[in-house]
Amino acid sequence: MPVGRAGSVSSQPHVLVVGGGVAGASVAYFAGQRGARVTVVDTGLHAASQVPSALVNPVRGQSGQVAAGAVEGLRLTWALVDALGEAGVEVPHGRGGVLRPVPDDRTRQKFERNLPAALPHRWLSVQERPPELAVGWAHALWLPEGGWLDGAAFTAGLLKLSGAEVVRARATAWDARTVTLDSGKLLRGDAVVWCGGSVGAGWAGEGGTHRAGTLLTLDRAVTEVPFSFGAYLAPAGTGGVLGATFEAPTPTWKEPALPLPSLRWLLGKADALTDLSGNRVTGRWSGSRLAGLTAGRGADGVWRLAGLGSKGFLLGPLHARHVAGDVVAALRV
Ligand SMILES: Cc1cc2nc3c(=O)[nH]c(=O)nc-3n(C[C@H](O)[C@H](O)[C@H](O)COP(=O)(O)OP(=O)(O)OC[C@H]3O[C@@H](n4cnc5c(N)ncnc54)[C@H](O)[C@@H]3O)c2cc1C
Repeated sequence: MPVGRAGSVSSQPHVLVVGGGVAGASVAYFAGQRGARVTVVDTGLHAASQVPSALVNPVRGQSGQVAAGAVEGLRLTWALVDALGEAGVEVPHGRGGVLRPVPDDRTRQKFERNLPAALPHRWLSVQERPPELAVGWAHALWLPEGGWLDGAAFTAGLLKLSGAEVVRARATAWDARTVTLDSGKLLRGDAVVWCGGSVGAGWAGEGGTHRAGTLLTLDRAVTEVPFSFGAYLAPAGTGGVLGATFEAPTPTWKEPALPLPSLRWLLGKADALTDLSGNRVTGRWSGSRLAGLTAGRGADGVWRLAGLGSKGFLLGPLHARHVAGDVVAALRV
């Protein structure tokens, strides 16, 4: 039987979540769905999940890797977008597919080796390709169930729908049942789930693989559906974006920036995808993501969902559903 805040026995488990990005918001949502009372402690600072337009793209990188759970993950993300819409929380998104141009036969062969039959996909003929795609791509893979969404709106929507209490503070210490805030206040619960992302791992002094990247926000969407190879072009809630996580990996979190040579790299990747003339840059968003998935309970008794890499919106909710289910089940035993 879970122990409540004042140490009393309560039938409703109380879950404390550190971090309110897509990982923490999804854990809060699914723990709430399973009957838990949830408190999320979040600074609201440096969340990778604030990304203005994130791809929901099951075929990854330049070798076409498909992560385990990718098909289930993307369908769950879209189901959550629908649930948010039904609850009156609109998340700007587009679910009209993702285009993965491929430069040569060898790369196509790599993609083909990775593509599971369960993932709807089709190689487009030259005539079928969107007119905005630059010439010179040997192949173009069409992923009809992919798309893009506004990361900030999706995350905020999940947090809202979770019904969790949100405490705007920095957690300075945590163990299996308590979280200490920077004010010195101690929160007590029945379980703690750490979802601090790249910045949180940095603050906690943990080693890891952090990778920063940048999105240029554009005055209009250059393409109707996202194009992705190296960098991605996608529509956004307002206008469009051009971006990628492309800085060299670092072992600690660093405040994300856009070095000038990176801008050159990004524009080069974009030029290979489409003709950008006539588009205006309206702003810049930079963030950092953490690689190396951890999802489950650690030896210290603290649960954890972190290291979502570049798949936060593809797999974050799916992993969160598992973790939240396990947390609540463990408390009900
Ligand atoms: C440029 C870029 C482009 C990307 N594009 C895509 C994409 O197209 N598709 C995709 O699926 N993914 C994409 N990602 C990856 C995705 O954004 C991340 O995988 C995901 O957002 C990570 O979510 P998270 O909740 O683990 O961490 P975060 O979103 O970083 O959230 C962590 C939160 O915890 C808070 N926090 C940390 N420590 C503490 C503490 N001690 N006390 C209180 N609060 C704390 C932080 O302030 C923050 O709000 C991209 C990332 C970047 C940087």
